[in-house]
Amino acid sequence: MKEFNLIQRHFTPPTTSADTLLGVGDDAAIIQPPPHQTLAICVDTLVAGVHFPEDTHPRDIGHKALAVNLSDLAAMAATPRWATLALTLPEHDDTWLTAFAEGFHALAREHGVDLVGGDTTRGPLTITVQALGYLPPGQALRRDGAQPGDHILVTGTLGDAALALEQWDHPHPDSTLRARLTRPTPRIAAGHILRGRAHAGIDISDGLVQDLGHVLKASGVGATLQAGALPLSDAFRGAMGDTTHWRLPLAGGDDYELLFTLAEADMEPICQQLAEQGCPATVIGRIEAEPGLRILGPDGAPLTLEQGGYSHFGD
Ligand code: ADP
Ligand code: MG
Repeated sequence: MKEFNLIQRHFTPPTTSADTLLGVGDDAAIIQPPPHQTLAICVDTLVAGVHFPEDTHPRDIGHKALAVNLSDLAAMAATPRWATLALTLPEHDDTWLTAFAEGFHALAREHGVDLVGGDTTRGPLTITVQALGYLPPGQALRRDGAQPGDHILVTGTLGDAALALEQWDHPHPDSTLRARLTRPTPRIAAGHILRGRAHAGIDISDGLVQDLGHVLKASGVGATLQAGALPLSDAFRGAMGDTTHWRLPLAGGDDYELLFTLAEADMEPICQQLAEQGCPATVIGRIEAEPGLRILGPDGAPLTLEQGGYSHFGD
C-alpha cells in the first residue's frame, strides 16, 4: 500500500466544520479558532523503547500519543480542538496501523479533537503529535504564578504508572496499574475548573518532585510536601503491601495528573467542583517563600530522595 493510501485509510477522518475549514489532504490544514480566544500549542514525541515498552499494544500507543499532548493542554487550562500526527514507521503493518488509529481516534472523538494533518515516514517507530487548543486571553494555567501560602494539590493518584512500568515483565501484572501507564487520562475537565482560578499548574509527566520543581523555579518560591498525604490508589497499596515506598509517587513519571496551587479562599469551591466532575484532588503541601523543596515523612522528619525523577540527559 502506498503512503497516500495509508493516510487515506487510517488518518483521514471526516472533518469539515465551522472551525476546521480544511483537514487532511492538502499541503496544510486551515483552522478557525473561536473569536477572541488565544491558541495553546504543544508537541510531544514518543519513541519506542524510550517512552513506551516496544511490546505495548498499538491501540494503547495511539491513545497515549494523543493523551500526553491533551494532558499538556489540560495543564494550560485550554480546550483541545485540533491535532497533527507525524508517524515514523519501521514497516507498513496494516493490522498495527488499524489498532493504532483506533486508539488515537477514540480519544480524539472523546475530546472533540480533529486530526487535521501530519506526516508519514519510514524509520524506527516514533510518534509525534502536536495538539492545539484555545482559551480566553489571560486565563492560562501557567507555571509561574505560585504564591507563598498557596496549597499544593494533585488530581487522582501518584506512582501507578511507574509501578506498572516496573512490573511490565511480570507474568501477572495488575491490569488497573497497567492501564494507568498505557492509557493515561488527560485531565481536561479539571483544567477547565482551574482556569483563571488556580495560581499555577503543571501536568506530572516526569515525576512529582521534578515537575513541582519547575513550578517552584518559575514562580521564585519554595515548598514543603507531606509524603504521608500523597494520594495512592488501592491498586498501588495492594501491590506494595504495608511498606511505604515514597520513590514511585514522588519521582515516578507518566501519571499525567495535574499539580496546581490554590489560595486558601479558593480551596473549598474548587475541590468540591473537581470531586463532582469525578476528578478529586488531594492537598499534598504548601508553597513557601523560602526557596527549595522540603519533603516531610509522616513522622514529620525530612525525607531525602535518591533519584529525583526521570530526566533524559541526566540533568
Ligand atoms: P506533502 O508532501 O505536501 O507534505 P504528504 O504526502 O506528506 O504531503 O501529506 C499529504 C496529506 O496527508 C497532508 O494533508 C498531510 O497533512 C496528511 N498526512 C500525512 N501523514 C499523515 C498522518 N500520519 N496523519 C494525518 N495526516 C497525515
Ligand atoms: Mg508532508
